[in-house]
Amino acid sequence: MEVWADNMLINYVNYLNFLNEKLRKFFASQKPYIFCDKGCARCCKNAQFPYSSIEVTYLLAGFQTLDRYTQQVIRSNIQKTVNDKKIFDGEKFLYDCPFLINDVCAVYDFRGVVCRTFGLLSQGNDGRIKVPFCCYQGFNYSNILDMDTKKLSQEKIDKLHLKEEPVAFNVSYEFLTDPAFEYKFKFLFGDKKPLIDWFLDK
Ligand code: SF4
Ligand code: SF4
Repeated sequence: MEVWADNMLINYVNYLNFLNEKLRKFFASQKPYIFCDKGCARCCKNAQFPYSSIEVTYLLAGFQTLDRYTQQVIRSNIQKTVNDKKIFDGEKFLYDCPFLINDVCAVYDFRGVVCRTFGLLSQGNDGRIKVPFCCYQGFNYSNILDMDTKKLSQEKIDKLHLKEEPVAFNVSYEFLTDPAFEYKFKFLFGDKKPLIDWFLDK
């Protein structure tokens, strides 16, 4: 365990490299259904962004590499979002990620697990298939979406005559942050909560 503690961040980066390679293959296999535009940052907005302790530590290591002006913009974004959260009175506080500047992630190489998986058709531990929300806005998988039923259409899939089938991978946050990965790569995710909650009361 002590050896783990010494190498925790290095081991987490090894896990990220493993994850990146898996995701690279998943995205490549789904290419005909993926329409991520450069500059599209819809998945970085209006959400909660679950982050574990080690993911935040690594994200902040990325923050330290930024120039002072960019750091200041992010600090001010964080403060504004924290203030908004403190006066929020609803059930689920949604916000734009404070690390997003002019629709570009300022800490891209250091981003968390959920940021890496977004845009794929996914299947959770409960077996439910989840379509990315941008599908309904004309982006990923929208070419096989039946707008009336809001479900993927086998008819549309057949009409495309593609060799690549749409596949729902188990890329849920719950699965990808499972203790099995902690044991395999020898690190701990730690507590998990919405990204902005890590900055409350700081
Ligand atoms: S960390 Fe980067 S990729 Fe993740 S939500 Fe924020 S801006 Fe988007
Ligand atoms: S996953 Fe969807 S929302 Fe995110 S960048 Fe791609 S097209 Fe945009």
